[in-house]
Amino acid sequence: MKPCKNMLVAVDTSDEAKQVLEAAIELGRCFGAKLSLIHVVEPVVTENSYDLINTASVEMDDFLVKHAEDFLGNLKKDLAPDISSCVGVGSVKAEILRHARENSVDLIVAGSHGRHGLALLLGSTANALLHGAPCDVYVVRIKDSS
Ligand code: AMP
Repeated sequence: MKPCKNMLVAVDTSDEAKQVLEAAIELGRCFGAKLSLIHVVEPVVTENSYDLINTASVEMDDFLVKHAEDFLGNLKKDLAPDISSCVGVGSVKAEILRHARENSVDLIVAGSHGRHGLALLLGSTANALLHGAPCDVYVVRIKDSS
């Protein structure tokens, strides 16, 4: 694997995010790389989402963004308090790839259960990221806690 300097760690808001961040920290240490975290909130679409202003879905999106910011803050707290984090809004794949491009990221880290999509190899988000990523993608195999 070629050395990297700028890693982007994509996490959902499940318990599994910790596994992904821990693996990324370990890898980042080997390369002396800078890490940043991203979570993407997919906008809530309601029946009236095409109204000019739909207060309910705007409020729900705001709530989800706030929840994600709190989640990322707690996730970083014990493991890597100094890394930067951001919450994007939009399509998960598109936002992660846009952020990677705009910030000269040279490695995207994401998790995979390896149990759906291309069957036992890649989860759907990891698979989607591979298609179109401007850089390498490192996939962390999520271990089931059960
Ligand atoms: P999934 O394919 O949905 O099981 O997700 C696998 C991995 O994709 C997660 O472990 C994260 O690394 C990444 N991921 C999933 N959803 C999001 C999201 N909303 N924002 C950022 N990364 C995500």
